[in-house]
Parts: sequence; C-alpha cells; structure tokens
Amino acid sequence: MTDTAIDTAMDSAGTEELLSDLRAWLSDNWDPDLTVGEWWERLGLAGWAAPGLPTNAYGKSMARSDTVLAQQEVVSFGALGAPAGLGLLLAAPTIAAHGTQEQIDRYVREIVTGQKAWCQLFSEPQAGSDLAGLQTRALPDGDEWIINGQKVWTSGGQYADLGMLLARTDPDVPKHQGISYFAFEMLQDGVDVRPLKEMTGHALFNEVFITDARVADAALIGGRNNGWAVANTTLMNERAGLGSGGGNAAGGGLAQPGTVMGMLTRRVGDLVGERAGGAETKRTGTKKETSAQKSQQPGGALGAMRGGATMLISVAKSRGVNSDATIRQDLARLYTLGELGRFNGLRMKAVKEQGGDIPGMPNVAKLSMSQIVRLTRDLGLRIMGPGGMLHAYDVDDKAALKHATGDPFAGGITEMALFAQAPPIYGGTDQVQRNIIGERVLGLPKEPNNDRVTPFSQLPKNA
Ligand SMILES: Cc1cc2nc3c(=O)[nH]c(=O)nc-3n(C[C@H](O)[C@H](O)[C@H](O)COP(=O)(O)OP(=O)(O)OC[C@H]3O[C@@H](n4cnc5c(N)ncnc54)[C@H](O)[C@@H]3O)c2cc1C
Repeated sequence: MTDTAIDTAMDSAGTEELLSDLRAWLSDNWDPDLTVGEWWERLGLAGWAAPGLPTNAYGKSMARSDTVLAQQEVVSFGALGAPAGLGLLLAAPTIAAHGTQEQIDRYVREIVTGQKAWCQLFSEPQAGSDLAGLQTRALPDGDEWIINGQKVWTSGGQYADLGMLLARTDPDVPKHQGISYFAFEMLQDGVDVRPLKEMTGHALFNEVFITDARVADAALIGGRNNGWAVANTTLMNERAGLGSGGGNAAGGGLAQPGTVMGMLTRRVGDLVGERAGGAETKRTGTKKETSAQKSQQPGGALGAMRGGATMLISVAKSRGVNSDATIRQDLARLYTLGELGRFNGLRMKAVKEQGGDIPGMPNVAKLSMSQIVRLTRDLGLRIMGPGGMLHAYDVDDKAALKHATGDPFAGGITEMALFAQAPPIYGGTDQVQRNIIGERVLGLPKEPNNDRVTPFSQLPKNA
C-alpha cells in the first residue's frame, strides 16, 4: 500500500459525497421534538443508522471506515447517534449475511430503528475460547425448539429483548457441525438473567440460565446445524468492530435501544441537550461541536484510546510530569499505536475498494486494541502517581475523589485501568487471535486433535 493509495482512501470523493448527502438529510430530518423511538425510526429506515449494511438490509453498503465517519457526522451535527449495542454491531450484519429477507425485515429493521436490544449468548462456563464445545441444547418440538443450558459473560443480557443464541442441535456429529444459531427471545419464562458485578463497580455482563425456554423454527438463522458458519460472521464483525470503531457496542451511547431501558418514549432533544450542557435547538445545517459532544463520539476502542492519548497528554501537563522522558516516550508510543490503527483502517478500505482483502486484519486490529488498552492503563496510572490507587464507585465518592486529587480525570483514568483487563479477553483472547493468524493467515499447522472427526457426544468433557 503506497502513501498515495492511503491519501486516496482518506480523501475519497465517494466518502465526501456520502457525508454531504448525510448532512443534507440531517438538515431535513433532525427534529429534537421527536421521541427517541421516532428519531431512530427515521435514521434507521433512511439507511443512516448502519450504513455499512447492504442496501437490502437497511444500509448503504458503505466501507467500515466510512460508517465511523458517518456516525461522527450525526453526532457532530448535534443529532442523536444510532442505537448502539450488540444488535447493531453483531446481530444485524450476521442476519444480513445469513438470514432470509423475511428475517432481515423483522430483526434487522428492529435493530436499526432501536426498537429491540440484543445480547450475545455464545460463551458458557466450559466453552469460551473453545466455543464449539458449547453444551446448551436445542431439541425440536413441532415448529419450535426447546432450549436448556447455561450461558455466561452475557454483556447487556439484563437489558436485552433478544439474544444471538448458539445451541447444539445435533450432538452426534463433530462439534462444529451440530450447532445452530437462533434469534432468541430473552423476555420469556425459563430465562433467568443474573448480573455479575465486576471490579469496576458495574455489572456489564451476566450469567443466563435457560430452562425449557422456547424459540420458533422461523428464528433459526442460516439453517439447521449451520450455526458455526453463522457464528463466525458474528465473531468477525466483533473483532473488526472492536478494533476499528464499534466500541459503543456494549451500550456506551446517550440512549440505549430496546424495550427494557424505557428510553424510546423520551424526547430526543432532551437527551442531546443533556449532552451539550443544556443547549439544544432545531438545527438547520450549521455545524457546531461542543467538547461534550466530542467526548460522546463513537470510535470504538481505538478511537477512545486515540482520545486517550490526547487526554493523557493534557493530564500529564496538568500534573507537571510531561517533561519526564519515559512518560513522553510512552505518550508518543500510545499516540503512534492509535495512528497505526487508523492507517490500517484506511489501508483496509483502499484494498476493499479495489476488490481485495487483507487476511487477518480484524485479528491484528483486535490485538492492537489490547496493546493500546494495556499501555493506557499503565501510563495513566504512572501519570496519576499515588492518586492512581484511589477509585470512586458512586456519585458522591466521585465528587470527593475529584476534590481530593484536584483532577477531573482521576476517576476516568482508574476506571479505564480497571476495565483494561476486559478487551484482551472478549471477542476472543489475544492467544486465540494469534492462533487464528498462525493457522488461517500464515498457514501454520493446527494443534493436533480429533475434534473435527469425532462426534461431539464422544468427546471428553469437563462437565
Ligand atoms: C468483559 C467481557 C464481556 C464479554 N461479553 C460476552 C458476551 O456478551 N457474550 C459472550 O458470549 N461472551 C462474552 N465474553 C466472553 C469471552 O468471549 C470469553 O471470555 C473468551 O472467549 C475467553 O473464554 P473463557 O473466559 O472461557 O477463557 P478460556 O477459554 O478458559 O481461556 C483461559 C486462558 O487460556 C487461553 N487459551 C484457551 N485456549 C487456548 C488455545 N487453544 N491456545 C492458547 N491459549 C488458549 C486463553 O487465551 C486464556 O488466557 C465476554 C468476556 C468479557 C471479559
């Protein structure tokens, strides 16, 4: 990839044209007096909630890097952004790729318009990295399936209307061949969601116990026993999204989609007004970006960490440690890693526009994100000095911490440090990403095992 090709990708006339279409559309359609649900209906049906989706699935077939720019454009215009969450990041592109048009018109439509929130019911106590070893069972019963099993690490499960459920539909074939992928209703008898509180003080994820719950055969995505291929589409989107700009996926936006959070009936201008510190007008095309809006911009882990470098530079200055040579070096390293991620995104876009691909790039993006979050954690705590050992969990304590340290960023830095353990694990651990690059990109031999030929029911199991 030459510099010129990268410049071409950055300055692509197509991108500018799409963004200018978006600005015109926002001028005509943004109305703070709508409810959140009504606004998301407009945004989603016009193809601007998830413009990376194909045109038959409520999108505009835009390149991933362009979709990040489009999301930023919506926010910087002063409008409420797309209904962030695992539905938009994972379920929608998966159903767009493997679902029937009827399934797309039901599930993807509900996602892009924010009506339903989704969670990912993949991992189990004995099946994380070895996901194909999952034991949740689906037994056919007329035109339905009966589901029994346990999931864990289910992010946002407590707020979800639906889950991307992987369940075993045939234990008598090798493990990858007997799995199916369902759009599973969470709000039904037999689904017990138990939040797990983390050291950050939040309960991001849950245990989910499923006992004789039901799912319609019509909710089977991609066909019976074809769930492994469908799940790989979800995982590929997860890795690429986490690495390059879907980080709001876990629900970091101003408003959460779905029926459980109860935000759909709120006036959308009130939410945007809260973000902008009270100022909210019916916009007519002028662009004004507040710092609060900037901090809400999507951009995922890499985007956040690029912001992280800028934020840490200003904290280092305010604490008088910006002349420390090792801190300066690490700040430069952090900034450089963020820029590398951005340029890799542009390389990918340029290659895709020419009909090519860079194998392993989503895995590299995810590994790069792990490196960035670890460096952000270590550097942030070094900049904070002894103050980095203090953390606050509730509003009053946060105010007291700010008062004691005199630093408005103190709580944010320790929060990031506590959360830094998570990104190298979710979406597939660093070791698993390296295995994939080794085996599928570099062509190295797989670890020897008989998983691919022995029926799942005959494999040894821990539980
Ligand atoms: C914050 C967070 C949110 C999550 N959200 C979700 C969610 O919403 N839905 C969902 O389904 N899952 C979710 N996960 C689960 C996540 O996908 C799993 O934690 C991950 O796949 C690892 O599985 P495990 O925890 O069972 O660890 P294990 O698979 O038991 O791994 C333990 C250790 O062994 C290493 N290891 C395992 N196998 C190999 C191998 N073959 N080669 C080399 N090293 C190996 C791993 O790298 C790791 O260091 C989430 C996880 C986290 C941390």
